[in-house]
Amino acid sequence: MTPPTRIAVIGGGWAGLSCAVELTAQGLPVTLFEAAKHLGGRARRVDWQGIAIDNGQHILIGAYREVLWLLNRLGCGDLLERHPLSFDQPPHFRLALPRLPAPLHVALGLLTARGLDWRDKLAATRFIGALKHQGYRLAADCSVTELLDRHGQTMALCHHLWEPICLAALNTPMHMASAQLFCNVLRDSLGASRADSDILLPRADLGRLMADAASAFIQARGGKLELGSRIDAIAHDTQGFHLSGRNEVFSHVVCASHPVQLPALLAHLPELAPIAGLVAGYGYQPIQTLWLSFELDLELNVPMLGLDRGPGQWLFDRSDLAPGLASVVISAEGPHLAMSKQDLLGAVLGQLHQAVAALPELRDYFLIAEKRATFAAVPNMQRPGNATALPGLYLAGDYTQSDYPATLEAAVRSGAACAQLILKQIETAH
Ligand SMILES: Cc1cc2nc3c(=O)[nH]c(=O)nc-3n(C[C@H](O)[C@H](O)[C@H](O)COP(=O)(O)OP(=O)(O)OC[C@H]3O[C@@H](n4cnc5c(N)ncnc54)[C@H](O)[C@@H]3O)c2cc1C
Repeated sequence: MTPPTRIAVIGGGWAGLSCAVELTAQGLPVTLFEAAKHLGGRARRVDWQGIAIDNGQHILIGAYREVLWLLNRLGCGDLLERHPLSFDQPPHFRLALPRLPAPLHVALGLLTARGLDWRDKLAATRFIGALKHQGYRLAADCSVTELLDRHGQTMALCHHLWEPICLAALNTPMHMASAQLFCNVLRDSLGASRADSDILLPRADLGRLMADAASAFIQARGGKLELGSRIDAIAHDTQGFHLSGRNEVFSHVVCASHPVQLPALLAHLPELAPIAGLVAGYGYQPIQTLWLSFELDLELNVPMLGLDRGPGQWLFDRSDLAPGLASVVISAEGPHLAMSKQDLLGAVLGQLHQAVAALPELRDYFLIAEKRATFAAVPNMQRPGNATALPGLYLAGDYTQSDYPATLEAAVRSGAACAQLILKQIETAH
């Protein structure tokens, strides 16, 4: 006899939420277990002295189709502000893609870029052309540094354009980062339509953008959310799946944890030992976000300002969250990890004085360091699929099979894919 359908989702990050939204929308009974007291995982709201901020500044692009579809479904799509792609690193560099159809937007953007001479522009155009010609597929993966060397990319291009893109998208230093994943990102940004290459910036905290609306959506459709409920292990027998500390038996389980927690969750499932072993071998990269509260709004006239010669990489005006608020992103590993908080603040403020005319007085600051912000996106990385050797048990998360690095889009896609696989399995069983 087929056991009654009862689905457990373990983990309430964007992957688990996307899966639970999709399943409850189809009227299926879902219980989502989240170890923390809040939803959102690595893209969540954080309270700083009564101000709602984020654990980390997040950037989305127009090519994030599943994320945009989900946010629109939840009624939150208008909390994103859309801008044409631009890289501004005053006074040295500016590349802004005009509102023209592809590929003219990139061609004209490069032609009019400030801080690149004609050799740089020619090298970049040739590089993008060559990648396009080969469908953004490499015969063999290698590091981003190797790929750029092979295509004669100049120092100026690497410094002002390719390294910032690699760090923002792959959160992995260029000498370690997968050239294939980098090419996939270029395909869906510079190589895609103008709308796909747009930058989308949240104009609300990440809780409002996703977790609040997803939680209301799931519960309105009968789904249960159990916050502060860590699941230590999963067991399986002829009745179905058992979660440690729970009496219920589940017909399906979606593991939507951070990859670092996956091996422990799978420890009692010998069929899944190869997946646990694979994921246990992943490396991770940090992201630090420095929140700065100034006396006045920064009023940058660009969506994000590139920072040079120091630890900070991007500056964002976040006065949408509170007057005078700004955030600075410091992606991936580097010498900044050895700096004290005070030294890091001093170094970033030095960069801001260079980049912003008349920087207002600083009132306060708050540094949030996420040690395992993303997996290290290294060449030839093996990522598990969403279905596993155990029918009924699925994996969702930014680390599962995807041609994207660890991003919101990879997470949301994986959750939606697990929901589709479960729906298909249920349909087949009946
Ligand atoms: C600072 C920072 C900046 C980033 N910037 C960007 C960006 O600009 N653009 C972008 O696209 N991406 C960005 N990312 C990456 C993006 O946030 C992640 O890829 C995405 O949030 C991962 O979602 P997930 O659901 O796969 O995993 P997670 O968010 O890690 O969710 C897993 C959830 O499972 C829970 N959990 C774990 N174990 C258990 C257990 N045993 N029982 C119950 N619950 C459990 C955890 O508490 C967590 O809530 C950034 C990440 C960070 C940290």
